[in-house]
Amino acid sequence: MGFEKFGRVSFASQTKVADFIEYLEKGELAATKCLECGRVFFPPRADCPWCPDSKVEWIKIEGTGKLISFTKVHYGPTGFEDDTPYTLALADFDGVKVFGRISKELAEEDAKVGMDLKAVTVTLPSGQLSYELVPA
Ligand SMILES: [Zn+2]
Repeated sequence: MGFEKFGRVSFASQTKVADFIEYLEKGELAATKCLECGRVFFPPRADCPWCPDSKVEWIKIEGTGKLISFTKVHYGPTGFEDDTPYTLALADFDGVKVFGRISKELAEEDAKVGMDLKAVTVTLPSGQLSYELVPA
């Protein structure tokens, strides 16, 4: 149902948050926000675990985030072995925590906690869609 287009290795073809792909196709990264309690979810969730009857809306992740933490991956899981080494990171975009790869254009030794990052969408050589964190 569209979600098979996500990522280097797609583990799910159907999900209630397949609209995530439509945002990536537009060059946008999106999260969901519970209309009841206001919690924001990234990766996006279709249902809020705190509000059983809640509805969520899509919100775009824009602007600049701050690098919270990162690690270099030397031994990738199944499907990612040929991509190593790569750097995974957690960044804070105005309270929304985004987990993802740091672009290989940023050398690991140049990554610093607190540095500004922005999220960009990428089309992989295979045609799959994903996103990365790049220096802002
Ligand atoms: Zn909620």
